[in-house]
Amino acid sequence: MNIILLGPPGAGKGTQASHLVSSRGMVQLSTGDMLREAKTSGTEMGRRVAEVMDRGELVTDEIVIGLIREKLDQGSDGGFIFDGFPRTLAQADALGELLAEKGETLDAVIEMQVDDETLVRRIVNRAEEARAAGQPVRADDNEESMRIRLMEYYKKTAPLIGYYHAKGMLNRVDGLGSIEAVQADIAAILDN
Ligand code: AMP
Repeated sequence: MNIILLGPPGAGKGTQASHLVSSRGMVQLSTGDMLREAKTSGTEMGRRVAEVMDRGELVTDEIVIGLIREKLDQGSDGGFIFDGFPRTLAQADALGELLAEKGETLDAVIEMQVDDETLVRRIVNRAEEARAAGQPVRADDNEESMRIRLMEYYKKTAPLIGYYHAKGMLNRVDGLGSIEAVQADIAAILDN
């Protein structure tokens, strides 16, 4: 089973994806994690990616589609969770084509709904908690980058909600509930 977790930054996609990895043996494909890895690679591509990400803007479709293509080639018995990808209509089309090439399908899209004020609060808290614990703080986890990330989401990613709705694949969960409550809602969709 292959699924997309869709939602704004701070909606809890990564947390829910980790749970699906441990509970269902799925493979999480987070383009954000892959790009953060590329940032530290010291390559020219890494430097360009870092600038764009730290501002809170989206990196090019070409780069992220390339990253996903490589991972899909490695295969997954338990299926893939796409976390933070696709983020544009071009990426959504590319994903459909890549899966079709492999004879695979997309089984569900889960939109995690959380209001903006909560999102900004969650991200600022995430940064404060990391700082207090002496852990690295994401360069884009600050209020200014977060506003840009939200704007990018509404301009470029939110149209995917209509796109997948039209394909009859869209499911919605209330992302404001407890982690366990959201887990249960997602499980109910996947087991349906
Ligand atoms: P995330 O960890 O998903 O919040 O992603 C962090 C940042 O990585 C985003 O703000 C973008 O700059 C970049 N990014 C991650 N995934 C994508 C994507 N699918 N398309 C474009 N940029 C992405």
